[in-house]
Amino acid sequence: MNDIGVIGLGVMGKNIAINMMNNSFKVAGYNRSYEKTEELIKENHENFTGYKMLKDFVNSLSIPRKVFLMVSAGKAVDAVIDELIPLLSENDIIMDAGNSYFKDTNSREEKLKDLGINYFGVGVSGGEEGALKGPSIMPGGEKEAYPLISDILEAISAKYDGESCCKYIGPKGSGHYVKMVHNGIEYADMQLLAEVYLILKNNGYSNIEISEILDKWNKTEVESYLVFITSKVLKEKDDKTNNDLIDMIVDVAGNKGTGRWTSIEALSQEYNASLLTAAYQARIMSNEIELRKDLSNKISKEQGEKLDVEVLRKAYSLAKSVAFAQGFGLYKDASEKYNWDLDLKEIASIFRAGCIIQARLLQEIMKAYEDGTKNILTLPVFKNQLVENSKDLRKVVLSGVQSGLALPVFTSALTYLDSLSSELLGANIIQAQRDYFGAHTYQRVDRDGFEHHNWSEE
Ligand code: NAP
Repeated sequence: MNDIGVIGLGVMGKNIAINMMNNSFKVAGYNRSYEKTEELIKENHENFTGYKMLKDFVNSLSIPRKVFLMVSAGKAVDAVIDELIPLLSENDIIMDAGNSYFKDTNSREEKLKDLGINYFGVGVSGGEEGALKGPSIMPGGEKEAYPLISDILEAISAKYDGESCCKYIGPKGSGHYVKMVHNGIEYADMQLLAEVYLILKNNGYSNIEISEILDKWNKTEVESYLVFITSKVLKEKDDKTNNDLIDMIVDVAGNKGTGRWTSIEALSQEYNASLLTAAYQARIMSNEIELRKDLSNKISKEQGEKLDVEVLRKAYSLAKSVAFAQGFGLYKDASEKYNWDLDLKEIASIFRAGCIIQARLLQEIMKAYEDGTKNILTLPVFKNQLVENSKDLRKVVLSGVQSGLALPVFTSALTYLDSLSSELLGANIIQAQRDYFGAHTYQRVDRDGFEHHNWSEE
């Protein structure tokens, strides 16, 4: 009998299936179109059996059956689940490891629970290479059923100092929620690095010089996978022209939805995740090709002050901490709102290897949650960084503003910190305006409660 069945043998599914086989699990494979299954059969993996018929695939699995879905998010997941339901028995387990929207996972979990089938929404991060060599894995579902799948998931996950980067997250769609916000943080850090590139380029550095600067940064506290790959990207040559490949890539970025969902959820939770949202909006703006061409150089700007590289590094370090603080703040807020009891230290621990946002900073975040902090920015290590690096962040934003460089995430980081550290935000004006035009009432500084004022009309 096979230990587990993988449905969806595309980029991620194929690699994760091989990862399972490499960890000595017997894997059944099924794909909607048989060609992908056939390709994997032809690779002659010892622990793999490919199936043409879904029924045969299901019947080959040991009880309780464990089915791992790696198909496109959305309708494909429902289509596969509907096909599986008549073939599965009580206590069997379906794991959806694609990037599904967590509220869809909530409903699917409920529907399958009524049929006695355990449903897990499993966040997976690490891309193609992570899937093969060990991703970071975020499983959410019934806690009692987790031991039935933990051996496989923990074996195939990345390891940090021998510790598995797969931990049970919480009930229902919480695993997919954690993956969604992980991607939101990823968007923010990617955009920050794009802004670092923009600033350095504007200051006259070549691609190779920027790459070397990032290599040096990666020996400091900002060390991360994303800094590493950005440096690599900047060194790459184009086969066709021998130009730097980065100069041959169109200045437009797409997305597959997780950044958008993170922004929408942050707004509906009424939680400020401005850096994550700004990064998503930056991708939208990059697609305004015609308008950008039309308005190019029509807005007044001057050459801002040339920035010291160390000033930029410190500003990046602080802005990156703010992005992580907002992401982890979203986790805490969602945990309370949805009653998920998320363990933020465990979440930080599974991001330390395998995933796209792996970074040295996560060690500090783990320590922060050990100390029971509410917001990581209030911890001494981050507070010190705030005091020391905020002047650098301000310099970077000022220089960008002067030079006409769009730095949405650096700017959002500064605005966020300025808001957090301001005793007066002007919200008293908002209260007064709302009471003036809508009798929404206002709160006073000298007594409790809400009051309405009869505003003079003249
Ligand atoms: P992919 O290479 O495009 O593969 C998609 C798979 O879904 C194929 O096996 C496809 O089958 C199957 N599929 C699509 N529609 C289907 C339907 N209606 N019924 C049954 N099967 C259907 O995509 P991928 O990169 O492996 O991504 C798979 C999932 O992992 C997605 O949710 C993605 O967001 C998530 N993910 C991807 C990454 C990444 O770095 N790529 C990282 C983490 C998570 P056919 O071959 O028959 O079309």
